[in-house]
Amino acid sequence: MRQHNLFIPTLREAPAEAEATSHHYLLRAGFIRQIAAGIYGYLPLGLRVLQKISAVVREEMERIGAQELLLPAMQPADLWQQSGRYDVYGQELIRLQDRNGREFALGPTHEEVITTLVRNEISSYRRLPLTLYQIQTKFRDERRPRFGLLRGREFLMKDAYSFDVDWQGLDRTYRSMYDAYNRIFERCGLRFRAVEADAGSIGGEGETHEFMVLADIGEDTVVTCAGCQYAANLEKAEAGLSESSGEAAAERSAAYEKFHTPNVSTIEQLAAFTGLPERHFAKTLIFAADGRTIAVLVRGDHEVNELKLQQALGAEKLELADAAATQAATGAPVGFAGPVGLAVPLYVDREAAAMEAVITGANEQDYHLRHVVPGRDFELERVGDYRNVLEGDNCPRCSGKLLFYRGIEVGHVFKLGTKYSEKLGACFIDETGKERPMIMGCYGIGISRLLSAVVEQHHDGQGIVWPASLAPFQVHLIVVSVKDERQMQLSERLYRQLREAGAQVMLDDRDERPGVKFKDADLIGIPVRITIGKLAGEGMVEYKVRDSLEQLTLSAEEAVARVYEFYKGEDS
Ligand code: ATP
Ligand code: MG
Repeated sequence: MRQHNLFIPTLREAPAEAEATSHHYLLRAGFIRQIAAGIYGYLPLGLRVLQKISAVVREEMERIGAQELLLPAMQPADLWQQSGRYDVYGQELIRLQDRNGREFALGPTHEEVITTLVRNEISSYRRLPLTLYQIQTKFRDERRPRFGLLRGREFLMKDAYSFDVDWQGLDRTYRSMYDAYNRIFERCGLRFRAVEADAGSIGGEGETHEFMVLADIGEDTVVTCAGCQYAANLEKAEAGLSESSGEAAAERSAAYEKFHTPNVSTIEQLAAFTGLPERHFAKTLIFAADGRTIAVLVRGDHEVNELKLQQALGAEKLELADAAATQAATGAPVGFAGPVGLAVPLYVDREAAAMEAVITGANEQDYHLRHVVPGRDFELERVGDYRNVLEGDNCPRCSGKLLFYRGIEVGHVFKLGTKYSEKLGACFIDETGKERPMIMGCYGIGISRLLSAVVEQHHDGQGIVWPASLAPFQVHLIVVSVKDERQMQLSERLYRQLREAGAQVMLDDRDERPGVKFKDADLIGIPVRITIGKLAGEGMVEYKVRDSLEQLTLSAEEAVARVYEFYKGEDS
């Protein structure tokens, strides 16, 4: 393509709205433009990269036998009512009515539509297993759209759905999808980890993994082990028990006693007041779980993991109790709750339960208790893992220590089981003539999120540095002066030659100062740049790889040969 009439509106200045590096560069290099909060247009360069990502995804989906289809964004509300999600999905679901007042939703995901479709068309085990996928626009009215394409309200997703006759079948399908995802993200040139994740609100009995691109801007915390392959989302991560903590063992014999702690209502204040480390205390938090008041006890330096707690409770909704409910449950204002003599059900994290003796709130304003012994002074009926792990905790699998990284979730594979097939009646007749629900899986990749995630990992101070597999063009030819006959001739020759060989070439034939052209080239980030300048008359050019400082003066033929060498093994 010739750059003089390509629509690439580059910007000199950093756009004020850009908070993430990828957002900043994709705007500046003219790949995307915001149309409304969380809603973007993909300009020609952006679209080319999206198409390359999609091509990689399609190849790997075809390889495992998944079939592409395309489903509507506009979905009848009654499908969502049948699955029971119309009410629980909340404000993220964009709802609308047609001219006759029929209700619709803009699909945030497609389980309802696809399960209904397959239910209507397939009734025999002979037609299973089946995996279908699409690359399609999704709508989610996110509370905080941000970081450009990383969290949009309208975005591109690859979503796949599998239908098997039994769990073993699903296990196989899941495994092949998991392997395909690994290949896709490798081919996108990403540093990533597949991590154990929480089944969360999608529900289902199933195993689930998230694929996390490691990047500081990531909203998720990825927990990995330094010694083994263990990797999990913080939401789900577990730790091996730590060495005993709390007050010294000697304190066990003493009965607990109350002591005066005026205006000391946080763990930090308590640590400062007593001069003891936070792990000597246990904190008691009061929650409302589906309207029921409960208490949770964790060690002073630990945080409650609300997702783990919610699952242990089987609660739909969990939130910290307000001041009035806390006062009612403990008889004291917030900050003085403790496990001794508490009237509401008490959930004790296993690390808190393992403490020898501990300092806690006294359920009385301005007082705490010391020498409190778990099991003696309060019940240990509901002990479990209710906390977030900390960096440096013991690995649950080996003797290693846990490390933390920030991650961007770019993919998610999920064993759904019969959650949707039962609700929507997607059944089949098995070999024995019995009717059974199909066993489903669902598998998503954020195609547009990937565009940003790749840039988060592939950039430098000047702009984007595209991996060879995803670059919008493979070679950037830059003519230093378009008014110079010989430069133009050589450029045209190279342009033709490379294109005939199948290379994707962008020719900067704009009548601009060379400085402007080089700045734009660095910003846009095409992997190989060939500059045709003063030495054109002798058939010589400058060859430079975007990711290297080295610039070589070569004959035009040699430069072309190097391009072939560079892209050897890449499909064009
Ligand atoms: P998140 O926790 O980031 O909101 P999710 O758990 O809601 O993600 P899924 O429902 O599993 O995501 O969607 C599948 C994939 O779609 C995700 O792995 C992610 O790559 C992408 N995705 C989800 N929400 C968005 C969004 N708002 N903008 C861009 N991509 C998204
Ligand atoms: Mg989400």
